[in-house]
Amino acid sequence: MVKNLHMVDLHGQYAKIQDEILSEIHNTLDTAQFINGPKVERFADALANYLSCDYVIPCANGTDALQIALMALDLQPGDEVIVPSFTYVATAEVIALLQLTPIMIDVDPDTFNVTAELIEPHITSKTKAIVPVHLFGQNVDLEPILELARRHNIWVVEDAAQSIGADYTFRDGRKMKSGTMGHIGCTSFFPSKNLGCYGDGGAIFTRDAELAKKIKMIANHGQSQRYYHEVIGVNSRLDALQAGILLVKLAHLDEYGHARYQAAQWYHHQFEGNPHLSTPFEAPYTSHVYHQYTLKVNNGQRDALDRYLTEQHIPHSIYYPVPLYQQNAFAPFRGLVDFLPVTDQLCKSVISLPIHTEMDESMVQYISSVVNNFF
Ligand SMILES: *Cc1c(COP(=O)(O)O)cnc(C)c1O
Repeated sequence: MVKNLHMVDLHGQYAKIQDEILSEIHNTLDTAQFINGPKVERFADALANYLSCDYVIPCANGTDALQIALMALDLQPGDEVIVPSFTYVATAEVIALLQLTPIMIDVDPDTFNVTAELIEPHITSKTKAIVPVHLFGQNVDLEPILELARRHNIWVVEDAAQSIGADYTFRDGRKMKSGTMGHIGCTSFFPSKNLGCYGDGGAIFTRDAELAKKIKMIANHGQSQRYYHEVIGVNSRLDALQAGILLVKLAHLDEYGHARYQAAQWYHHQFEGNPHLSTPFEAPYTSHVYHQYTLKVNNGQRDALDRYLTEQHIPHSIYYPVPLYQQNAFAPFRGLVDFLPVTDQLCKSVISLPIHTEMDESMVQYISSVVNNFF
């Protein structure tokens, strides 16, 4: 029995960077500058530099990042926004919240992501934006989607909440970071994300100076000058304590991505001979930062495996058990989407195992042996 199994091990990760974190926290306490100020700016600059992206606007969480991004595009009620139906609720929720119409579409069975081919048939005269989600840590094949969007004059807002740090390779060999290729990119610093803080946080990325100005204004009550409000905005800020924590963790982000990737390779090896499981597909055009290690159970036994792992005290999770288009909250939009066979099938067959920066091979061997024993 291997002890200390967790979906993510934030405690173990903290133990290794404790001195750096405490010194940042003490420094913020000493300056008593808790909202905005130099530390938040320093983090935004460091992240912009890491991403090779011109503008990084920090905000309160990933859901706000998506909402603010869409608010910056001047869309009208009833405009259509294409999103995958196999994703976390936030992606489609903000669309409905802004009185836009989410068009929830199917995904590719191997990558779990949308493709240009899947998007194209859903483009209508009302389509104004596409929100591709780089699910589980692997980039969507974005180049064909960017071309499609350009042809139809549609905005692309990337949901990079699970993929920060992942590299996308264009057909000509150029590489770009997840979230920096569309008109706007969004991410979350929720503690369990690949770049997580110790509370809530998020950020918005863009290369467009005009959009950056607007996004900054919307995140700050619609003002660019204090007490002069140009547009209706929101209050969405990253606090300085979180910015300090993120400055420390950003310096480790690539090393964290490698640790997750290594753990995934150990898992692949353990499941190689198991005909009932499909291990995660690694697409050639992207690196994979393994936000989740998600298996497909091919023999219809996913729910039984779920119960078995609970009995065996193996942490695991199902992302996601219900397609968004089947959720009660999205009932008003259900008539707009067809039956989504791949999404339906994935919701019945996926299961995610522990993957984090502190895993060693013996943990992976133990978890895999319990999984393999089930079959
Ligand atoms: C976590 C997540 C979000 C939302 O981020 P929060 O910081 O929790 O608001 C949005 N989209 C996806 C795909 C996510 O995984």
